[in-house]
Order: sequence, then C-alpha cells, then structure tokens
Amino acid sequence: MNKWSRKTIPRRQWVKALRKLEKGPGLSIEDIAVPEIGPHDCLIEIDRAAICGTDLHIYEWDPWSAGRIKPPVTTGHEFMGRIVELGKEVTHLPKGMRVTAEGHIICGYCKYCRTGNGHVCENVKIIGVDREGAFTRYLSMPAANIWPIHEKIDDKYGSIFDPLGNAVHSVRAQDIAGKNVLITGAGSIGLFSIPVAKAFGATKVIVVEPVELKRKLAYECGADLCIDPSSSDAKDQVLQESNGIGPEILIEMSGNQHALRFGLEVLQNGGEAALLGIPSRPVELDVNRLIIFKSITIRGINGRLMFKTWYDSEQFLLKHASEIDPILTHTFPITEFEQGFQLLKDGKAGKISLTLEDFHE
Ligand SMILES: [Zn+2]
Ligand SMILES: [Zn+2]
Repeated sequence: MNKWSRKTIPRRQWVKALRKLEKGPGLSIEDIAVPEIGPHDCLIEIDRAAICGTDLHIYEWDPWSAGRIKPPVTTGHEFMGRIVELGKEVTHLPKGMRVTAEGHIICGYCKYCRTGNGHVCENVKIIGVDREGAFTRYLSMPAANIWPIHEKIDDKYGSIFDPLGNAVHSVRAQDIAGKNVLITGAGSIGLFSIPVAKAFGATKVIVVEPVELKRKLAYECGADLCIDPSSSDAKDQVLQESNGIGPEILIEMSGNQHALRFGLEVLQNGGEAALLGIPSRPVELDVNRLIIFKSITIRGINGRLMFKTWYDSEQFLLKHASEIDPILTHTFPITEFEQGFQLLKDGKAGKISLTLEDFHE
C-alpha cells in the first residue's frame, strides 16, 4: 500500500453501478470495486445524476456508441456528490465539499490544451464514455476537474452543470445582447438555452420544435414564440417575429438536417450560427445560397470552455436557477432507470434526474 493513501473508504467492499456490459442495447446494474485514486485525484460519493442524450445513445447502442464505447464501462457523466477522499497532493479541496466536475478529462500537453483550448483536446477522455462514469456510488476524478458547488445552489442544479454548460457555451459563443435568437430543437440543452439567452441579453427567443410537450416547456422557460416546423407558415412566423428579416443568431440544438437548413434559411444576412446538435449522418447544404451569399458565420460547439463556461453557468444559476425548473420534469431512484430512459426516448420528458440513495447501502 502506498504510504500516501490513508484510505477511509474500504476497498474490499463492492458497490452498485449502472453499466454497459456488452456491445448491444440496454444497461444493467452490476457490482464493481470502489475505484482507487491517484495522488492528484478525489473520490466522490455521488448523490444525484442526470440522464443525457449521450446516455440514451449508449443505452440504445446506436452507430456512434458502437464505434466509441468499449464495454464494460459504467455510464453517466452528469452528477453531483461529496468529496469523501483526497489524493495526497490535493490540498485545495476539503473532504465533505459538495462538488460536480467537468467530465472531459484533458491531456494538458497537446497544442489545444497548451493554448487554453482544452475543450477541443485531441486526447480527451470523457467519463461514462471513454472511462468509468458517474452512475455508481463512488467516482474517481482528477482534482483539476472538480467544480465546487456554490452554497446557494441547490443539489438539483448541481447535477446539471454539464448540459447547462453546453447551453451557456453555445449562447456565449457570439455576442447575443440585443439580438433575436432562433433555437432549433427543444431537448433539454435547447430548453436551457432559452433562459440562458435571455439572461445574457437576447431580445427575443424563438423556438422551433416538433414535439408539443417541448414547445409547452419552451414557453414556460420564457420563449417568445414556439413554432411547429410542420406548419406551412413556419418560416413566415419566424420572419414576422424578427422584424421581417429574420433573427441575427441561430442556435442549432437538434442535429436534424431539416432544422439546420430551416435555421440558415431564416437567419438574416450576416447572421451567426452556433451548432451543437449532432446529425446522425452527413448533411447536404446549399452552401452558396445559405452561407456564402448571406455572409453567415458558422461555429461548431463542443463541450464547455474550461473553465470560463463554468463561471458563467454559476452566475446564471445564482440569479436565474428557478427559470430552468420547468425543464427538470422527472426524478427517479437509479434502480428505476429504465423508466427514465423510456420517457426520454419517447420525447415525454425534459431533464431526468436520478437519485443514488439505492446505491448507498
Ligand atoms: Zn450530457
Ligand atoms: Zn490535450
């Protein structure tokens, strides 16, 4: 035993974890060993987690996850908990502190890391995807990734810093103050983007979303107009709501090629588009008409800025947390995870949280 690891959590015990055991659909609850921690790591006892679209892809074993995931692996990357053990070299964090963490673990030595662009690190490892995730009792995380949860921020928001951060990063990637913003796709990150855009100064937020429940949630989050893309006058409705010439900003959250084309179509000349939604296959675009001659700027959005986005998200939550309450539609014990995944799959939920108490015994 290394002399620095004065262990407080007995390593001989087994704990439960929600894992992908084999290549193929589904997840199962399995016993795993308590993880070891290195000198620069923290051991976190997880209290709450949340289900992400990424977890649903892994659950369903879509082509993306089949190419990326190497079972067996514990899933989950959105979480909050408390520090229960510290590596020997970790001096800036106390045991017992409520924390969440940036789930992208970066190398620190590639060009991107060394120029302050760790969010596009070429050697990134994502928890719950490339290494052990958070749907379990104990998680080992590098201390550099830990984000202390402000004492005025409730546990239920503590577990959603990751997807909220995606929304904050997408909204903050361009100057949106005083501008009209179109959001295509009202999944939970699209929904988070509504109050975030308002908080950072957007004039109007227009949402395009085919699912009625999600349009309803979007209104509850402060959207000015929600449009069903299948209605024949969808484009006219957007133009009418944005001075006849369309919004200045598009935030594409659906990954749907029709939504992307629709968004670029209605964007005003000189507009800017932030793309976070991930299309399942290559998209065909009329680049001349939709981008070049309109002088559109397009940005890909990946992860969260480390850690500027986290500071922005904290500021947002301190003042506006209650505005995202309509999005937090369900909470289940982790043992009832199937129910959560099913609701998400059916488009019948906003953000689904899981409590980990069942795994604490
Ligand atoms: Zn996520
Ligand atoms: Zn790197």
